This record gives sequence, structure tokens and C-alpha cells, in this order.
Amino acid sequence: MAKFLLFVLVLAVVYLLVRASKRPKPPPPEAKAAEEAMAQCAHCGVHFPLNESVDEAGRVFCSEAHRRLGVKK
Ligand SMILES: [Zn+2]
Repeated sequence: MAKFLLFVLVLAVVYLLVRASKRPKPPPPEAKAAEEAMAQCAHCGVHFPLNESVDEAGRVFCSEAHRRLGVKK
């Protein structure tokens, strides 16, 4: 009887290990941030993806409207 209980216990441990290893891991947030280059709007200071930027004379803006408004003083 003790051997049977040990066998069930081993099966339960194996099942839990297999289930834990199959669980998809969420990607670390640092890795995602590194993939996407960010820029800061020279007008409002908001951070946004660099590929959405509107730039003028070395300054980047979050939108065409803020490019027209220029650098906030
Ligand atoms: Zn802006």
C-alpha cells in the first residue's frame, strides 16, 4: 500500500512539473521596451514610439500639431 501511495505521489509531482514547464512565460517588459525606440516630444514632453515621430531641425514631436507649435519654452 505504501508503494502505491509513493507511486501516486511521484505521478502527481511529474504532472505538476510538466504543467509548470508548459505554461507560457510572459515576455519581460524590459525586452519589449528595448525593441521599440522611444522619443520624447519637444513640445509636450510625452514619450511615444520613434517611428510615429514628426521631426524638424533635430527636434522630435508627437504630432504635426505640436511640430507647428514648436518647442515649449
Ligand atoms: Zn507633443
